[in-house]
Amino acid sequence: MACQRCGECCRKVGFIVQPQKKMLDLLVAHGLIKDGDKQLKLTVWHDCQHLVWDGEFASCAIYDDRPEFCSDFLCPRARGGGKIQEARAMVGS
Ligand code: SF4
Ligand code: SF4
Repeated sequence: MACQRCGECCRKVGFIVQPQKKMLDLLVAHGLIKDGDKQLKLTVWHDCQHLVWDGEFASCAIYDDRPEFCSDFLCPRARGGGKIQEARAMVGS
């Protein structure tokens, strides 16, 4: 399936952090992680400043200079990955 130009890949940033012990204890106390966990997966929802919209269709305004993280991204929705490239091509930017 080709890129749907939904823009979702450019609307969140996910990463893993390894908090210090005090913070781990706090996270366990809050029930955010289990006792013994060492890592925390975080997702920050935020529209990338380079995300542009053509109606309901997304594209990247800095495709040629986009971060490596973006160029390496393999989209589960669009086989082949990095399909924001297709989105950009569709709007001729
Ligand atoms: S690469 Fe995937 S998540 Fe990103 S716009 Fe295309 S279909 Fe949507
Ligand atoms: S730089 Fe481009 S490809 Fe990367 S998140 Fe922003 S809009 Fe998406």
